[in-house]
Amino acid sequence: MSVWAILLAAGRGERLGLDHPKAFAKLGEEPLLAEPLRRLEDSDWIDAIVVVAPPEWEEPVILLAEELGCGKVNACVAGGATRTDSVRAGLAEVPADALVVLVHDAARPFVSDEVIERVLAPLSEGWDGVVPGLPVSDTLKRVEPDGAVVETVSRDSLYAVQTPQAFLVDVLRRAAAGDGDATDCAGLVEAAGGRVKVVPGDERLLKVTTADDLAKIASWL
Ligand code: C5P
Repeated sequence: MSVWAILLAAGRGERLGLDHPKAFAKLGEEPLLAEPLRRLEDSDWIDAIVVVAPPEWEEPVILLAEELGCGKVNACVAGGATRTDSVRAGLAEVPADALVVLVHDAARPFVSDEVIERVLAPLSEGWDGVVPGLPVSDTLKRVEPDGAVVETVSRDSLYAVQTPQAFLVDVLRRAAAGDGDATDCAGLVEAAGGRVKVVPGDERLLKVTTADDLAKIASWL
């Protein structure tokens, strides 16, 4: 089975307040993108990688991949205005004979072989897609813009979903065709009627959104 990874790194990361894209925020001595790129390169589960770069940052991404010796990087393409558009740009580089695609947020640098294995395994049991998730532990409330609580939402059976997310390539291609949008790839597959399974996620798959997230992740290096 050939497994292609799409590494999504085209987000602007406005909440970090930088004058360059989030993928090039400093994590230790390197750009943030280096950590997930190296981890996917080193994973025996991954055969090839497509990096979706911030528009006009394709060249620095290619240089970084070369510096890190990432021979599995097959293509680097510019991302789109939304995450879903960036997924479409990445999928266009995945060849017709690929069987499985793993879509991962570069903003979650600590991707591990254990979680990659967990999301790949159920694809051979008839699932269309598999995502890592953690049960929600906080109390959830629906809130008006002025802060007024509308209701408390039961957290029973609610999960916070992460990446990497694994799909049969044809399923994700069909789900991403057209102009639908979702905050993750599983949302596209669900909307197209696909069966998606949640497997245990990992606290270390924290997504970098703020400078505090970056500091926390840097402390794990
Ligand atoms: O914006 P959000 O935090 O949901 O981004 C998740 C991942 O998707 C990040 O790794 C980001 O670089 C990527 N992304 C993208 N293209 C966009 C928006 C986000 O590749 N237009």
